[in-house]
Order: sequence, then structure tokens, then C-alpha cells
Amino acid sequence: MMLRQPDPAQAASRARARMVERLRAQGISDERVLAAMTQVPRHAFVEKGLAYSAYDDTALPIGYQQTISQPLVVARMIEVLRAGRELGRTLEVGAGCGYQAAVLSFLATEVYAVERIRPLLDLARENLRPLRLPNVRLKCADGNLGLPEAAPYDTIIVAAAAPSVPDSLKKQLAPGGRLMIPLGGTDQRLVMIERQGNVFRESRLEAVRFVPLLTGTE
Ligand code: SAH
Repeated sequence: MMLRQPDPAQAASRARARMVERLRAQGISDERVLAAMTQVPRHAFVEKGLAYSAYDDTALPIGYQQTISQPLVVARMIEVLRAGRELGRTLEVGAGCGYQAAVLSFLATEVYAVERIRPLLDLARENLRPLRLPNVRLKCADGNLGLPEAAPYDTIIVAAAAPSVPDSLKKQLAPGGRLMIPLGGTDQRLVMIERQGNVFRESRLEAVRFVPLLTGTE
């Protein structure tokens, strides 16, 4: 009798479908966000040894003391940023392994993702290459300064926690633009800033735990 070998691609796609069902149960209802997260193979962004946990609802190590964000947090940040509008030209600060940039690429017109740790940026590039996403650009830079060369942005999403909102990021927000950033040290909270002219309206969302936003590049 011939035993059928389990097909890893099929197993991953089933695990991804289960992750998306769990996100739905956790309250994510934006179908386009759920569809984007169904498309992106999260297991391809973590070390091979961790691939079996890639679709669990947890952050996982990606080296250099950094982590790939928890799927629920990625979904939630993007869903809130999207509410009622398109993401448009988007800046991600803290590309890490590139996972969130890949999700954003399905929802934004352009994604500019900056990362301060060069070897991580190289890893993100390697992870993203096989997906052939035409609208993602990566750069090694200190995201505290934003990315002036492609500003202004309709959306800015920061994947590391800061004590306060960096001024450059506010300045690089287009009129009507939205910025999402975790603020705080040991106690962190997601904060969304909406720019209306030169008025910045702030809403405080749920508690989260992110790695710190550092300065400079390495
Ligand atoms: N977006 C990633 C999460 C990466 S964790 C994902 O999809 O899973 C946050 C990342 O922010 C880390 O890789 C860290 O090196 C980076 N980071 C921290 N401070 C930064 C800064 N000032 N500029 C750019 N990246 C920064």
C-alpha cells in the first residue's frame, strides 16, 4: 500500500486558515485584512525550527533579540488604520523579518519599510523575495526619523514601542493620514494619531507588548 506523504504546503495553508478563523473569533472583521493574512505564508518568516508554531497566536523570536509580532496585533493595528479608508502610501517602522510588510503590501498602494538592524533587513529581503511583491521597498534606517525621501505617508505603522511619538513621523503624515504606534515602557498602549491639517487627534487603544524603538542603525 502506498502511504501518502503529508504535503507541507497544504498543511501550512490549513494552519493559516485556522489562524484566520481564530482572528475572526477574536473580533477581527475586516475581510480584506483577513484575506491578506490568508495570503501571506507566515511560516516562511520564522526560523525553520519554529515553523510548526508559525500560526499560533504568539510573537516568536527572529534573532537579534527581536520578534515577529503576534498575528492578532498585526490584524488589529491594520484593521483600525484601515477603518473607512484605504491605507495608501504606507511607512512601516521596524520591518523585522518582513511579515507585516508583506501583509501591508496587499492593502496599501506602496509600502516603505525601514529596519535599523542591517542583518534583519537582509533577512526580510530574503523572506520577501519569493513572494514577488512589487510594491514593497525596504531600507536600513532609523525609523525615528521616518523616511523623508518618500514622505508624506497616508499611513504610518510603528512595530516598536516609544516613550512618545517621534516628531518626524508626525511631520511626514499626509493630511487625513493616520499613524499607529505603541507608546510606553513596561506598560504599553497602542495609540492612533489622525492628522487633520495641523491638528493631531489622538485615540488610545488596547494594552500591548512590543520591543523598544531604539535609535541609530547597526
Ligand atoms: N514588523 C515586524 C515586527 C518586528 S519587531 C513583523 O512583521 O513581525 C520590531 C522591529 O523594530 C525590530 O526588528 C527592531 O529592530 C525594529 N526597530 C526598533 N527600533 C527601530 C528604529 N528606530 N528604526 C527602525 N527599526 C527599529
